[in-house]
Amino acid sequence: MATHTDRATARTVSPTAPPSSSSLFEEYRRLTGKSAQLAERARKVFPSGITHDSRFLEPYPLYVEHAAGSHKWDVDGREYVDYTGGHGALLLGHNHPRIVAAIEEQLRRGTHYGSGHELEIRWGELVQQLLPSAERVRFTSSGTEATLLALRLARAATGKQKIVRFAGHFHGWHDHVAFGLGPDNRPLSSPGVLPELAEQMIIAPPNDAAALERIFAENPDVAAVILEPTGGSWGQTPIVPEFLRELRELTARRGVLLIFDEVISGFRVAPGGAQQHFGIRPDLTTLAKILAGGLPGGAVAGREDVLEALAFPSAAGPRRDKVPHHGTYNANPLSAAAGIATLELVATTDACQQANDYAARLRARLQQVVDEAGAPWIVYGTFSGFHVFTNPEGQTVTAADIASGRCDWRSIKAPAKPGLTSKLRVGMILHGVEIFSWPGGPTSAVHSDEDFERTVAAFRGTLRRLQDEGEF
Ligand code: PMP
Repeated sequence: MATHTDRATARTVSPTAPPSSSSLFEEYRRLTGKSAQLAERARKVFPSGITHDSRFLEPYPLYVEHAAGSHKWDVDGREYVDYTGGHGALLLGHNHPRIVAAIEEQLRRGTHYGSGHELEIRWGELVQQLLPSAERVRFTSSGTEATLLALRLARAATGKQKIVRFAGHFHGWHDHVAFGLGPDNRPLSSPGVLPELAEQMIIAPPNDAAALERIFAENPDVAAVILEPTGGSWGQTPIVPEFLRELRELTARRGVLLIFDEVISGFRVAPGGAQQHFGIRPDLTTLAKILAGGLPGGAVAGREDVLEALAFPSAAGPRRDKVPHHGTYNANPLSAAAGIATLELVATTDACQQANDYAARLRARLQQVVDEAGAPWIVYGTFSGFHVFTNPEGQTVTAADIASGRCDWRSIKAPAKPGLTSKLRVGMILHGVEIFSWPGGPTSAVHSDEDFERTVAAFRGTLRRLQDEGEF
């Protein structure tokens, strides 16, 4: 039977298997009839009826009709507090008026000039202003493209081949990174990826400086280390700050480039991303999501001498090959307009702090609800994110154990009880809250106290239902 791996939970799921039975699913079917109809239509167009692996949900995903602020409405007219947050892109919520105005104004002027334009310069300058490590910037159309380009640049700049990345860290879906996400850590587990290419990637255990030293000693051919600086899958498997510092030191000593993948953490953890928060300067940074204000866009930013490999050689200069990079929608005016409005707001407001504070309060309150219900679950995370670990192996573990790296990343990624993640998400939907597939979600600067209370009540109600169904 065909299977795929849900990248966020790294669980092998079976999209064609009949969904598990649950009174939650029955009620979901009753209340979201129009979504069910659309899902039926979608299955005749898209594999599993979906357009992104993380949107897979039993028995079918929710279809949304419109959104505003921290809320969205489905095609059946039901309203939800939203914690999918545009996959992390919407720090300022849906349709922020300043961003909408900037997009509308640009729409009238044109969506693609196929030429340079002033907005792209302003956009790049804002990246430089917010990230001191961004000596030069190159825009792409997505985070996946950004990590692909960063790896190419690292190889070009160092003349070396291999790349080290960390188990459980997500960097998009291109061939260098689309495998080795789950607890089995099989390096070649993704069908369709060239083994010769995958062999150039070394998957290291997170938070283990000694292992990294061994890898460097055994492989003189390492061009770069790439990681999510707040941990795999937006902190689901945390990186401890001390390891980040060791990593910076080790890579600098070996002449290996350090790439911070700040596609999620950039402009979110702090206006200057995780690198500002931790005070560590990477050689290259990959960006997307908040960068483009909810429209498609990404970037590689970093050392001038490394990005210089993209520059055309001057006629008078030495002969050399440049690193090729195209992309029809790079720095397109619409994304630039939305990105500028967003980054200006990030730079001049306390949006990052607000989202961080809300998430910290939410994590603490949801853990209380878990404890009151007597579930062995842990609600944890850092900055503006929360994760719900359903603790399938019944470990005695706390959020602090997870944050400190004492809890092995493999056990955090261990498959949940079959169907439990979908039941949790569906339960929350029935109570008017949509969470992301981790399960958990990013918070925004516009989640309100009312949203908070509604989320807590939804979680309590969902836990009760799951307890009734014998899920814990
Ligand atoms: N890196 C990280 C850390 C991400 O979270 C993501 C997307 N979730 C990507 C890369 C890929 O970005 P995109 O989906 O824009 O290709």
